[in-house]
Amino acid sequence: MTKLSDTDAAHLHPETLALSYGFDPWLSEGAVKPPVFLTSTFAFKKAADGKQFFAWAHGEGAPPKKGEMGLIYSRINNPNLEIFEDRVALWEGMRHAQSFSSGMAAIATTLLATHGPGDEMIVCAPVYGGTDSLIHHFLRRFGLTAHFVPAGAEAPALAAALVTPRTRSIFIETPANPNNRLTDIAAMRALALHQLAAGRNRELLVIVDNTMAGPVFSHPAKVGADIVLYSATKFIGGHSDVVGGVALANDDELIHAIAQHRALLGGMPNPYTAWLLTRSLETLKVRAEQQQRNAQQIAAWLALQPKIRHVCYLGLLTPTDPEYAIYQKQHSGPGSLISFYLHGDEARAFAFLDHLKVFRLAVSLGSTESLAQHPSSMTHSGLTPADKQLGGITDDLVRLSIGIEHPDDLIWDLTQALDAV
Ligand SMILES: *Cc1c(COP(=O)(O)O)cnc(C)c1O
Repeated sequence: MTKLSDTDAAHLHPETLALSYGFDPWLSEGAVKPPVFLTSTFAFKKAADGKQFFAWAHGEGAPPKKGEMGLIYSRINNPNLEIFEDRVALWEGMRHAQSFSSGMAAIATTLLATHGPGDEMIVCAPVYGGTDSLIHHFLRRFGLTAHFVPAGAEAPALAAALVTPRTRSIFIETPANPNNRLTDIAAMRALALHQLAAGRNRELLVIVDNTMAGPVFSHPAKVGADIVLYSATKFIGGHSDVVGGVALANDDELIHAIAQHRALLGGMPNPYTAWLLTRSLETLKVRAEQQQRNAQQIAAWLALQPKIRHVCYLGLLTPTDPEYAIYQKQHSGPGSLISFYLHGDEARAFAFLDHLKVFRLAVSLGSTESLAQHPSSMTHSGLTPADKQLGGITDDLVRLSIGIEHPDDLIWDLTQALDAV
C-alpha cells in the first residue's frame, strides 16, 4: 500500500479519514490500529533536537514546518493525543485541535488562556451546569465578570447592548442544554466585527460549546466561531466509557495559547483516553445518524402524547418559529437530544423516570444507550433560580438522549412509563 498524501486527504471525507489519517503503520511494526503509547517521556536523537523542540513548544522563533516538531513529554505531546487531535479537527473542518482530560478541562483551560482580570464575558444561558459554576464562582475570583443573556433569536441584540470596551468574549452553547434553544453564531460574529470596525483594539472572541450538535450536524467555525469546544465524553466518545474534551481554533496564536495553558495546568488526556476517543471517531457518523433517526421518530410520537405539555426538539421547529432560520443556517440535522415538559411537578417527573426500563436513568448524553434525567435536580441543580428560569428549567422538565436501540423498543418503554404516571 502507498501512503496517503495531504493532497489526497483534502479530497476525502472525515468518516474515511477517521480510519487512517495521521498514523503511519510503518512507524509501528505495520499495526493497522495505532498502538497506545504508554510512555511519559520521549528520547531525543541529539541534544540539539531537544533544545529545538522545547523552543517550539514555548513558541520561540519561526514555528516548525509540518512534521518537524518532535515528541518531548506526554504532558506536552504524545502520538495518541496528536492522532486524535488531527482527526477531530478534520470532523470540524478546522486547522488545530487540543485534546483534554474532560470537557470542563477544555473549557476552563481555554477561558483561562484567553481572558485576564478585568475582562468581561457575555454568556448565552442556559449553559452546562459545570460551565455555569466555573463562570459564576471560579472565574469571578480572578476578576472576570460575566453578563448572561437568554439563548435564542433575541440573543445577539441583547448581547450588543451589553458590550463594553472590556468585553473579551461571547460564549455560546447552541443548541442550549437542556432546552435546545438556538443562538445565531454568525450574528454574534457580525457583532464582534462591528466592534473591531468601531475602533476596538482587541478582538472579541466568539466561543462555541458544540457538544450538543457536533461534530456531525453542526460546524460553528464555518459560521464564525473563533474557538469550538467539546465535551468528548458525549457524542465523540459515544459509549459512556470515557471522559474527555477538545478545544479547536483556526488561528495559530489562539491554539498556541490554549496549548501553553494545557501544558501549564496539566489538563491533557492520558494516552489511553486519547486512544479510546480515536477509536470512537471511527463510528461517529453511523452512531450519530442512527441516533438521529430514532430521535426523529420518538420526538414525533412524544408530541402527540396528551400527558406531555411541550417537546423541545430541533426536528419539530417549523418555519414560523423564530429559531427556524438559525436551524437552517447552522444545522444539517436535528440530532438526538429531546427534552419535554410533563403536565405536573417534580413528583410526576420522578415517577416517570423511575418507571423506565430500557432508558438508563443517568446524566450525560450522546452515547449508544438511551439516557433520561431530570435537569432541575441533576445536571442543572447548581444554577441560581434566576438562571433556571432563563433556561426554562422547570421541575416537570425531562431530558432524553436517544441511543442506537430499536426505536420501537424505546417507544414501548416511554409508553409504559407514561402510562404509570
Ligand atoms: C458534559 C458537558 C460538558 C462538560 O464535559 P465533561 O466531559 O463532563 O467535563 C460541557 N458542556 C456541555 C454542553 C456538556 O454537555
